[in-house]
Amino acid sequence: MTLTLRSIAKTFAGGTRALLPTDLQIEQGEIVSLLGPSGCGKTTLLRIIAGLETPDPGATVRFDGEDVTALPVEKRQVGMVFQSYALFPNMSVRKNIGYGLKMQNLPKAEIAARVEEVIALCRLEPYADRPVTALSGGQRQRVALARAVAPRPRLLLLDEPLSALDAALRGQLRDELALLLRSFGITAIFVTHDQDEAMAIADRVAVMSHGRVVQIGTPEALYRNPATAFVARFVGAAMPLGGRIEDDRLHLPGGALPLASATVGHQAFVRAEDVRLDPDGALAARVETVTFLGTHYRVALSGATEQPLFALHSGLSAPAPGDSVRLSIAPGAILTLPTEDRIA
Ligand code: ATP
Repeated sequence: MTLTLRSIAKTFAGGTRALLPTDLQIEQGEIVSLLGPSGCGKTTLLRIIAGLETPDPGATVRFDGEDVTALPVEKRQVGMVFQSYALFPNMSVRKNIGYGLKMQNLPKAEIAARVEEVIALCRLEPYADRPVTALSGGQRQRVALARAVAPRPRLLLLDEPLSALDAALRGQLRDELALLLRSFGITAIFVTHDQDEAMAIADRVAVMSHGRVVQIGTPEALYRNPATAFVARFVGAAMPLGGRIEDDRLHLPGGALPLASATVGHQAFVRAEDVRLDPDGALAARVETVTFLGTHYRVALSGATEQPLFALHSGLSAPAPGDSVRLSIAPGAILTLPTEDRIA
Protein backbone atom coordinates (compact mmCIF):
# COMPACT_ATOMS: atom_id res chain seq x y z
CA MET A 1 0.00 0.00 0.00
CA THR A 2 1.13 3.54 -0.77
CA LEU A 3 0.70 6.03 2.05
CA THR A 4 0.40 9.73 1.25
CA LEU A 5 0.33 12.32 4.01
CA ARG A 6 -0.41 15.96 3.26
CA SER A 7 -0.23 18.85 5.74
CA ILE A 8 -0.47 16.65 8.81
CA ALA A 9 -0.33 18.93 11.85
CA LYS A 10 -1.44 18.47 15.44
CA THR A 11 -2.05 20.99 18.17
CA PHE A 12 -3.21 19.42 21.42
CA ALA A 13 -5.76 21.03 23.71
CA GLY A 14 -3.70 23.41 25.84
CA GLY A 15 -1.73 24.57 22.82
CA THR A 16 1.13 22.01 22.50
CA ARG A 17 2.10 21.93 18.82
CA ALA A 18 3.15 18.31 18.60
CA LEU A 19 3.39 18.33 14.80
CA LEU A 20 3.95 21.14 12.30
CA PRO A 21 2.47 20.61 8.79
CA THR A 22 4.13 17.47 7.50
CA ASP A 23 4.10 15.82 4.06
CA LEU A 24 5.27 12.27 3.56
CA GLN A 25 4.96 9.65 0.84
CA ILE A 26 5.67 6.00 1.56
CA GLU A 27 5.70 3.45 -1.24
CA GLN A 28 4.26 -0.06 -1.41
CA GLY A 29 6.30 -2.49 0.68
CA GLU A 30 8.61 0.19 2.02
CA ILE A 31 9.81 0.08 5.62
CA VAL A 32 10.16 3.56 7.02
CA SER A 33 11.37 4.58 10.43
CA LEU A 34 10.29 7.73 12.25
CA LEU A 35 13.41 8.59 14.21
CA GLY A 36 13.85 11.41 16.68
CA PRO A 37 14.42 12.37 20.30
CA SER A 38 11.70 12.13 22.93
CA GLY A 39 8.83 14.54 22.38
CA CYS A 40 9.54 15.31 18.70
CA GLY A 41 6.12 14.06 17.57
CA LYS A 42 6.86 10.52 16.29
CA THR A 43 4.09 8.79 18.20
CA THR A 44 1.60 11.53 17.39
CA LEU A 45 2.31 11.07 13.66
CA LEU A 46 1.99 7.29 13.95
CA ARG A 47 -1.31 7.61 15.85
CA ILE A 48 -2.69 9.96 13.19
CA ILE A 49 -1.79 7.45 10.46
CA ALA A 50 -3.52 4.72 12.48
CA GLY A 51 -6.63 6.81 13.06
CA LEU A 52 -6.15 6.90 16.83
CA GLU A 53 -5.62 10.66 16.80
CA THR A 54 -7.36 13.36 14.74
CA PRO A 55 -5.03 15.77 12.90
CA ASP A 56 -5.72 19.51 12.73
CA PRO A 57 -8.11 20.58 9.94
CA GLY A 58 -6.55 20.73 6.48
CA ALA A 59 -4.69 17.41 6.77
CA THR A 60 -5.19 14.43 4.45
CA VAL A 61 -4.17 10.82 4.97
CA ARG A 62 -4.45 8.64 1.85
CA PHE A 63 -4.10 4.88 1.58
CA ASP A 64 -3.51 3.94 -2.09
CA GLY A 65 -4.95 7.30 -3.06
CA GLU A 66 -8.14 6.80 -1.03
CA ASP A 67 -8.81 9.56 1.51
CA VAL A 68 -9.04 7.86 4.91
CA THR A 69 -8.65 11.01 7.03
CA ALA A 70 -12.15 10.64 8.50
CA LEU A 71 -12.11 6.83 8.65
CA PRO A 72 -12.04 5.41 12.20
CA VAL A 73 -9.18 3.15 13.28
CA GLU A 74 -11.17 -0.09 13.03
CA LYS A 75 -11.97 0.57 9.37
CA ARG A 76 -8.42 1.41 8.29
CA GLN A 77 -7.07 -2.16 8.24
CA VAL A 78 -3.84 -1.26 10.00
CA GLY A 79 -1.87 -3.73 12.10
CA MET A 80 -0.26 -2.32 15.22
CA VAL A 81 2.56 -3.45 17.48
CA PHE A 82 3.05 -1.48 20.67
CA GLN A 83 6.08 -1.41 22.94
CA SER A 84 4.18 -3.28 25.64
CA TYR A 85 2.98 -5.84 22.99
CA ALA A 86 -0.47 -5.77 24.70
CA LEU A 87 -0.83 -9.57 24.47
CA PHE A 88 -3.49 -11.47 26.40
CA PRO A 89 -1.44 -13.15 29.14
CA ASN A 90 -3.76 -16.06 29.86
CA MET A 91 -4.19 -17.04 26.21
CA SER A 92 -1.92 -19.30 24.19
CA VAL A 93 0.25 -17.99 21.38
CA ARG A 94 -2.18 -19.48 18.85
CA LYS A 95 -5.23 -17.86 20.51
CA ASN A 96 -3.48 -14.51 20.75
CA ILE A 97 -2.69 -14.61 17.05
CA GLY A 98 -6.19 -15.74 16.10
CA TYR A 99 -7.92 -13.11 18.21
CA GLY A 100 -8.08 -10.39 15.57
CA LEU A 101 -9.27 -12.85 12.95
CA LYS A 102 -12.12 -14.01 15.19
CA MET A 103 -13.19 -10.41 15.62
CA GLN A 104 -13.43 -10.20 11.82
CA ASN A 105 -15.86 -13.15 11.87
CA LEU A 106 -13.81 -15.13 9.38
CA PRO A 107 -14.71 -18.81 8.86
CA LYS A 108 -12.99 -21.14 11.35
CA ALA A 109 -10.97 -22.98 8.70
CA GLU A 110 -9.70 -19.71 7.27
CA ILE A 111 -8.69 -18.50 10.75
CA ALA A 112 -6.81 -21.73 11.44
CA ALA A 113 -4.99 -21.58 8.09
CA ARG A 114 -3.91 -17.97 8.57
CA VAL A 115 -2.78 -18.56 12.15
CA GLU A 116 -0.61 -21.48 11.04
CA GLU A 117 0.79 -19.41 8.19
CA VAL A 118 2.01 -16.58 10.44
CA ILE A 119 3.19 -19.00 13.13
CA ALA A 120 5.47 -20.55 10.51
CA LEU A 121 6.52 -17.17 9.14
CA CYS A 122 7.46 -15.91 12.61
CA ARG A 123 9.04 -19.25 13.60
CA LEU A 124 6.72 -19.73 16.55
CA GLU A 125 5.88 -23.43 16.00
CA PRO A 126 7.60 -24.69 19.16
CA TYR A 127 5.65 -22.26 21.36
CA ALA A 128 2.25 -22.23 19.66
CA ASP A 129 0.34 -23.79 22.56
CA ARG A 130 2.17 -22.09 25.40
CA PRO A 131 0.60 -19.20 27.27
CA VAL A 132 2.44 -16.02 26.33
CA THR A 133 3.56 -15.62 29.95
CA ALA A 134 5.83 -18.64 29.36
CA LEU A 135 7.76 -16.90 26.56
CA SER A 136 10.90 -14.78 26.49
CA GLY A 137 10.78 -11.09 25.58
CA GLY A 138 11.97 -11.79 22.06
CA GLN A 139 9.40 -14.54 21.56
CA ARG A 140 6.61 -12.29 22.82
CA GLN A 141 7.70 -9.68 20.38
CA ARG A 142 7.33 -12.17 17.53
CA VAL A 143 3.85 -13.10 18.80
CA ALA A 144 2.86 -9.43 18.80
CA LEU A 145 4.11 -9.14 15.22
CA ALA A 146 2.36 -12.34 14.17
CA ARG A 147 -0.90 -11.14 15.71
CA ALA A 148 -0.61 -7.79 13.92
CA VAL A 149 -0.01 -9.32 10.47
CA ALA A 150 -2.48 -12.25 10.68
CA PRO A 151 -5.47 -10.14 9.56
CA ARG A 152 -3.40 -9.08 6.50
CA PRO A 153 -3.39 -5.36 7.25
CA ARG A 154 -2.80 -2.81 4.50
CA LEU A 155 -0.22 -1.12 6.69
CA LEU A 156 1.80 -2.19 9.70
CA LEU A 157 2.59 0.35 12.41
CA LEU A 158 5.10 -0.34 15.16
CA ASP A 159 5.75 1.92 18.15
CA GLU A 160 9.21 1.28 19.67
CA PRO A 161 8.84 -2.46 18.97
CA LEU A 162 12.14 -3.42 20.61
CA SER A 163 12.20 -1.06 23.57
CA ALA A 164 10.89 -3.58 26.11
CA LEU A 165 13.93 -5.80 25.52
CA ASP A 166 17.35 -5.60 27.15
CA ALA A 167 20.27 -4.17 25.18
CA ALA A 168 21.85 -7.46 24.09
CA LEU A 169 18.57 -8.91 22.86
CA ARG A 170 17.66 -5.68 21.09
CA GLY A 171 20.74 -5.87 18.92
CA GLN A 172 20.03 -9.47 18.03
CA LEU A 173 16.35 -8.92 17.28
CA ARG A 174 17.00 -5.86 15.17
CA ASP A 175 18.25 -7.94 12.25
CA GLU A 176 15.54 -10.51 12.78
CA LEU A 177 12.84 -7.83 12.74
CA ALA A 178 14.31 -6.35 9.56
CA LEU A 179 14.12 -9.75 7.84
CA LEU A 180 10.63 -10.53 9.14
CA LEU A 181 9.18 -7.18 8.06
CA ARG A 182 10.58 -7.70 4.58
CA SER A 183 9.19 -11.23 4.40
CA PHE A 184 5.67 -9.88 5.11
CA GLY A 185 5.85 -7.53 2.12
CA ILE A 186 3.57 -5.09 3.99
CA THR A 187 4.29 -1.37 4.00
CA ALA A 188 5.51 -0.68 7.53
CA ILE A 189 6.27 2.37 9.65
CA PHE A 190 8.07 2.07 12.93
CA VAL A 191 8.86 4.64 15.58
CA THR A 192 12.17 4.60 17.39
CA HIS A 193 14.52 6.98 19.17
CA ASP A 194 17.44 4.58 18.56
CA GLN A 195 19.60 5.57 15.56
CA ASP A 196 21.16 2.13 15.12
CA GLU A 197 17.75 0.51 15.13
CA ALA A 198 16.39 2.88 12.50
CA MET A 199 19.45 2.46 10.30
CA ALA A 200 19.45 -1.35 10.59
CA ILE A 201 15.76 -1.92 9.90
CA ALA A 202 14.44 0.81 7.63
CA ASP A 203 14.64 1.30 3.85
CA ARG A 204 14.25 5.00 4.55
CA VAL A 205 14.48 6.96 7.76
CA ALA A 206 12.45 10.12 8.46
CA VAL A 207 14.42 12.12 11.01
CA MET A 208 12.13 14.23 13.20
CA SER A 209 12.87 17.16 15.44
CA HIS A 210 10.47 19.55 17.18
CA GLY A 211 7.38 18.37 15.31
CA ARG A 212 8.95 18.30 11.85
CA VAL A 213 10.47 15.79 9.48
CA VAL A 214 13.84 17.45 8.93
CA GLN A 215 15.14 14.91 6.42
CA ILE A 216 14.01 11.63 4.91
CA GLY A 217 16.33 9.31 3.06
CA THR A 218 18.10 5.96 2.98
CA PRO A 219 20.40 5.28 5.94
CA GLU A 220 23.41 5.80 3.65
CA ALA A 221 22.10 9.12 2.31
CA LEU A 222 21.44 10.46 5.81
CA TYR A 223 24.84 9.38 7.03
CA ARG A 224 26.78 10.70 4.04
CA ASN A 225 24.74 13.77 3.19
CA PRO A 226 22.97 15.05 6.29
CA ALA A 227 20.88 18.12 5.47
CA THR A 228 21.26 19.79 8.84
CA ALA A 229 23.51 19.94 11.87
CA PHE A 230 20.87 18.05 13.82
CA VAL A 231 20.84 15.11 11.37
CA ALA A 232 24.65 15.03 11.29
CA ARG A 233 24.85 14.76 15.07
CA PHE A 234 21.84 12.57 15.70
CA VAL A 235 22.22 10.09 12.82
CA GLY A 236 25.79 10.48 11.68
CA ALA A 237 27.53 10.70 15.06
CA ALA A 238 29.37 13.76 13.75
CA MET A 239 31.20 16.06 16.17
CA PRO A 240 30.90 19.84 15.94
CA LEU A 241 34.29 21.40 15.21
CA GLY A 242 33.38 24.96 16.17
CA GLY A 243 35.74 27.57 14.77
CA ARG A 244 35.09 30.11 12.03
CA ILE A 245 34.61 29.62 8.28
CA GLU A 246 36.46 32.24 6.23
CA ASP A 247 38.17 32.21 2.80
CA ASP A 248 37.19 28.56 2.19
CA ARG A 249 39.05 27.55 5.32
CA LEU A 250 37.99 26.53 8.77
CA HIS A 251 39.94 28.47 11.38
CA LEU A 252 40.40 26.53 14.61
CA PRO A 253 42.53 27.07 17.74
CA GLY A 254 44.99 24.39 16.52
CA GLY A 255 45.34 25.67 12.93
CA ALA A 256 43.34 26.20 9.71
CA LEU A 257 41.85 23.44 7.54
CA PRO A 258 40.94 23.78 3.85
CA LEU A 259 37.27 23.11 3.07
CA ALA A 260 35.78 21.51 -0.05
CA SER A 261 32.84 23.89 0.06
CA ALA A 262 32.02 26.53 2.58
CA THR A 263 29.13 28.77 3.44
CA VAL A 264 29.73 31.51 5.95
CA GLY A 265 27.44 31.04 8.94
CA HIS A 266 27.31 27.25 8.59
CA GLN A 267 28.71 24.91 11.23
CA ALA A 268 31.50 22.42 10.56
CA PHE A 269 31.30 18.77 11.65
CA VAL A 270 33.55 15.74 11.40
CA ARG A 271 33.38 12.06 12.31
CA ALA A 272 36.02 10.51 14.54
CA GLU A 273 37.00 8.05 11.77
CA ASP A 274 37.97 11.00 9.55
CA VAL A 275 40.32 12.64 12.05
CA ARG A 276 43.84 11.40 11.20
CA LEU A 277 46.97 11.43 13.33
CA ASP A 278 49.35 12.77 10.70
CA PRO A 279 52.83 14.27 11.33
CA ASP A 280 52.23 16.61 8.36
CA GLY A 281 48.73 17.59 9.50
CA ALA A 282 47.71 21.25 9.75
CA LEU A 283 46.25 21.00 13.25
CA ALA A 284 48.20 20.86 16.49
CA ALA A 285 46.64 18.89 19.35
CA ARG A 286 47.43 17.21 22.65
CA VAL A 287 46.45 13.64 23.48
CA GLU A 288 44.23 13.45 26.56
CA THR A 289 43.18 9.80 26.78
CA VAL A 290 43.62 6.67 24.65
CA THR A 291 41.11 3.83 24.76
CA PHE A 292 41.87 0.46 23.14
CA LEU A 293 38.80 -0.85 21.33
CA GLY A 294 40.15 -3.99 19.66
CA THR A 295 40.09 -2.96 16.01
CA HIS A 296 41.25 0.59 16.78
CA TYR A 297 42.11 3.13 19.45
CA ARG A 298 39.85 5.99 20.41
CA VAL A 299 42.00 9.02 21.07
CA ALA A 300 40.60 12.05 22.91
CA LEU A 301 42.32 15.26 21.83
CA SER A 302 42.44 18.79 23.16
CA GLY A 303 43.78 22.08 21.83
CA ALA A 304 42.84 21.58 18.19
CA THR A 305 39.25 22.61 18.71
CA GLU A 306 37.38 24.43 21.46
CA GLN A 307 35.34 21.32 22.28
CA PRO A 308 36.81 17.85 22.84
CA LEU A 309 37.68 16.06 19.62
CA PHE A 310 38.09 12.30 19.08
CA ALA A 311 40.04 10.35 16.52
CA LEU A 312 39.67 6.67 15.72
CA HIS A 313 43.19 5.46 15.15
CA SER A 314 43.94 2.06 13.68
CA GLY A 315 47.44 0.69 13.77
CA LEU A 316 49.61 -1.37 16.04
CA SER A 317 50.51 1.44 18.38
CA ALA A 318 48.89 4.59 19.64
CA PRO A 319 50.19 7.83 21.10
CA ALA A 320 50.24 8.28 24.86
CA PRO A 321 48.34 10.77 26.99
CA GLY A 322 50.25 14.05 27.09
CA ASP A 323 51.81 13.61 23.61
CA SER A 324 51.77 16.52 21.22
CA VAL A 325 50.43 15.35 17.85
CA ARG A 326 49.35 16.79 14.53
CA LEU A 327 46.05 16.04 12.87
CA SER A 328 44.71 16.17 9.36
CA ILE A 329 41.14 16.05 8.13
CA ALA A 330 40.48 15.66 4.39
CA PRO A 331 38.51 18.65 3.02
CA GLY A 332 35.76 16.31 1.80
CA ALA A 333 35.36 14.82 5.28
CA ILE A 334 34.33 18.12 6.83
CA LEU A 335 30.58 18.57 6.70
CA THR A 336 29.48 22.21 6.65
CA LEU A 337 25.82 22.42 7.52
CA PRO A 338 23.15 24.91 8.42
CA THR A 339 21.93 24.73 11.98
CA GLU A 340 18.38 23.46 12.14
CA ASP A 341 16.72 26.81 12.77
CA ARG A 342 18.17 28.14 9.52
CA ILE A 343 16.26 25.57 7.44
CA ALA A 344 13.31 27.18 5.66
P1 ATP B 1 8.53 9.76 22.90
O1 ATP B 1 9.70 9.15 22.18
O2 ATP B 1 8.90 10.31 24.23
O3 ATP B 1 7.33 8.90 22.91
P2 ATP B 1 7.46 11.26 20.66
O4 ATP B 1 8.44 11.78 19.69
O5 ATP B 1 6.70 10.05 20.29
O6 ATP B 1 8.15 11.08 22.07
P3 ATP B 1 4.89 12.48 21.00
O7 ATP B 1 4.41 11.46 21.96
O8 ATP B 1 4.34 12.44 19.63
O9 ATP B 1 6.47 12.47 20.93
O10 ATP B 1 4.61 13.90 21.65
C1 ATP B 1 4.90 15.13 20.98
C2 ATP B 1 4.52 16.29 21.87
O11 ATP B 1 3.11 16.32 22.08
C3 ATP B 1 5.11 16.22 23.27
O12 ATP B 1 5.44 17.53 23.66
C4 ATP B 1 4.00 15.67 24.12
O13 ATP B 1 4.10 16.12 25.45
C5 ATP B 1 2.78 16.25 23.45
N1 ATP B 1 1.59 15.37 23.59
C6 ATP B 1 1.50 14.08 23.20
N2 ATP B 1 0.27 13.59 23.45
C7 ATP B 1 -0.43 14.60 24.03
C8 ATP B 1 -1.77 14.72 24.55
N3 ATP B 1 -2.63 13.71 24.47
N4 ATP B 1 -2.11 15.91 25.08
C9 ATP B 1 -1.26 16.95 25.14
N5 ATP B 1 0.02 16.90 24.68
C10 ATP B 1 0.43 15.74 24.13
